[in-house]
Amino acid sequence: MNHIVALTQYNAKGNVKESIELSKAFSNLKPSDKVFIKPNIVFWARVPFPKWGVITTSTVLLEAVELLKDYGVNDITIGEGIVTLKPNDRETANHAFEYLGYSTLANRYGVKVINIFDRPFEKVALDNDIDISLNTDPLHSDFLINLPVLKTHAQTVVSLGLKNLKGLVNIASRKKFHNPDENKNLHYMISRLYTLLPKGATIIDGIFTLERGPSFDGKPRKSNIIIASEDTLSADFVGAKVLGHDPATIAYLEMAAKNEGRNVDLSDIEIRGQSIDALASFHEYTFPYSEDGTLPKKLQKMGVQGLSYPKYDSTMCTYCAALNGAVLTAITFAWQGKPWHDVEVLTGKKMQPTPGKKFTVLLGQCMVNLHKNNTSIHAIPVKGCPPDPKETVKALHQAGIEVNPLIFEHLDIAPTYYMERYKNKPEFDENFYQIDE
Ligand code: SF4
Repeated sequence: MNHIVALTQYNAKGNVKESIELSKAFSNLKPSDKVFIKPNIVFWARVPFPKWGVITTSTVLLEAVELLKDYGVNDITIGEGIVTLKPNDRETANHAFEYLGYSTLANRYGVKVINIFDRPFEKVALDNDIDISLNTDPLHSDFLINLPVLKTHAQTVVSLGLKNLKGLVNIASRKKFHNPDENKNLHYMISRLYTLLPKGATIIDGIFTLERGPSFDGKPRKSNIIIASEDTLSADFVGAKVLGHDPATIAYLEMAAKNEGRNVDLSDIEIRGQSIDALASFHEYTFPYSEDGTLPKKLQKMGVQGLSYPKYDSTMCTYCAALNGAVLTAITFAWQGKPWHDVEVLTGKKMQPTPGKKFTVLLGQCMVNLHKNNTSIHAIPVKGCPPDPKETVKALHQAGIEVNPLIFEHLDIAPTYYMERYKNKPEFDENFYQIDE
């Protein structure tokens, strides 16, 4: 059977609806269906920050909702679970929903808007050994509309429909996804998750695309692309190709294809609209590191010595990743040209120390637990999950790296400094993230 994927361009209002219609993605939709929409709000800050290529545009969401109303659907829920540094922070999600115009959709169309962390979760078996907790609203919906962004991802190469669904599991399960077991790693978990959820439609929002995603420190482009399909895996195959990556080289896409007895060569996909060749452009996904992987290229170029900071791996969860970015920024500013005392910083869940280092900073509870009995290192543990920013500063100071504590005190507003990059670049238009009342 051929799966249909529409690959089209966004030039004007109405183009998203046209793409969905071309793909026939709503052909199984019934007016009585309980519809759940999952946008991608991978991150949010209550200050201006770059959303382009990071967050699903409200433009695409609005057209999807309008088309649902045209089909006579009344039971529509938009839901997301935004990761925040402070547990139990509800204001950040409320701010996001308000800013992005979701309340306007609620008032205008009777759409329900939920923070999934305020709703119940249900344990579901991912395989014979692993249970995860899925939010019950999408799990028990009739038609799931998946609205990811067309972006790359530092750990998974691309982050599209399959990956977007990880935002529907609870915090403990998200941490499980970054499993140190090579056979059941992040790719394995993603490749199975989507089979547990109801089918529906996937609309990949490529109005803005992103290099070195998934977050605001990546490099966005105005690409004006919409990809729509009733089949998430097919949409992802096409999305990966458009970003310049062969699905055969992306472990979770390859695993998912194998599970379904499908090829990754797109031979069972009918593409409607534009050709992949016409719209594809290579998007880099990985952050550049030194050849031996022990220092980010930027620090290497600055001539930093006496520090080993091995490249992140797939076991680092979003929480540690957010702090990790701040640590690297702080280290960049702390470098005064004088070599540090042979310090190593370890992250994630499986890194092993290099013998002979003077100090080994263990960033996060996973590293602390893994090496708690290691007597061959001078460990400086930063406990906590996520690790406490203040403790992180103390640990780095103890290792002789005089980072500025202010960087860690204002982590919630730090993303606003990235807005500088977009001054005088009118193509990066904030209006795509708002809905007129
Ligand atoms: S310490 Fe970091 S890597 Fe470990 S579970 Fe917590 S957030 Fe994830």
